[in-house]
Amino acid sequence: MAETDGGESPREETSPGRAERGPDGRLRYRPEVGDLIALRAAHVCGSERMVVTQVGLDVRLACAGCGGRVVLSRERLRGRVRELIGGVGEKEG
Ligand SMILES: [Zn+2]
Repeated sequence: MAETDGGESPREETSPGRAERGPDGRLRYRPEVGDLIALRAAHVCGSERMVVTQVGLDVRLACAGCGGRVVLSRERLRGRVRELIGGVGEKEG
């Protein structure tokens, strides 16, 4: 007979750990392929959601609204991303 003390570990699903708000108010976001992010400014189609499709010297994004391609440097992306909506999940190792 095990006693249940309702011990569920709390999860912060809105902050998977790769997107943390720094002391200066900026989002410290490390992009990974497959991430769904929201930008501060909406795309020309009106959608502000983008999916990370490639990460290198530049970060390539695909607009979730129209499928248009956007290429930003990591530095620019860091200044433009507002929120990490969905990550690719926890990686092992
Ligand atoms: Zn678009």
